[in-house]
Amino acid sequence: MLFSMHVKTVNLKEFQKEAEKFIRTLAPAGNGATVVGLYGELGAGKTTFVQAAAKALGIAECVTSPTFLILKSYKLSAKSYKLLCHVDAYRLKNSGELRGLQFEKLLADPGNLIFVEWANRIADMLPTDHRKLFLEFVSGDVRSITVG
Ligand code: ADP
Ligand code: MG
Repeated sequence: MLFSMHVKTVNLKEFQKEAEKFIRTLAPAGNGATVVGLYGELGAGKTTFVQAAAKALGIAECVTSPTFLILKSYKLSAKSYKLLCHVDAYRLKNSGELRGLQFEKLLADPGNLIFVEWANRIADMLPTDHRKLFLEFVSGDVRSITVG
């Protein structure tokens, strides 16, 4: 692993800065999409982290939680990636539902950067060596971020 960290952020601004830092550590995998699994309970800040990452990558449109859509994609311009995909596996019983959404195709494309909330629910579909981000609600606006 090239990069790992454990940090506590005390407010949203600090949290967003950490997301920016994390984005800078990413490099296209070459043999498939770059996959980032977000682990943590409801309210830990997974969606907020993806929103901050999207902003850092220049996505102007509002990144909303894909909980009810399961998968949303955003075009990226002039960066290492063509597409940012945001998956929320919370409502999935298993990875089978994602197969119908062409998720495997998205996973195979090195031009894609894929964030997966509740990645543990579709672990069998994700590359075993995907980047892992563990988020934890500490109190109030305090969050703990561990990058594995
Ligand atoms: P998750 O996707 O893990 O369920 P969310 O990103 O939706 O969590 O965040 C849950 C709530 O906590 C939201 O109201 C969000 O605005 C707030 N929140 C998340 N991260 C932070 C943070 N770093 N600082 C302050 N509030 C946060
Ligand atoms: Mg969420």
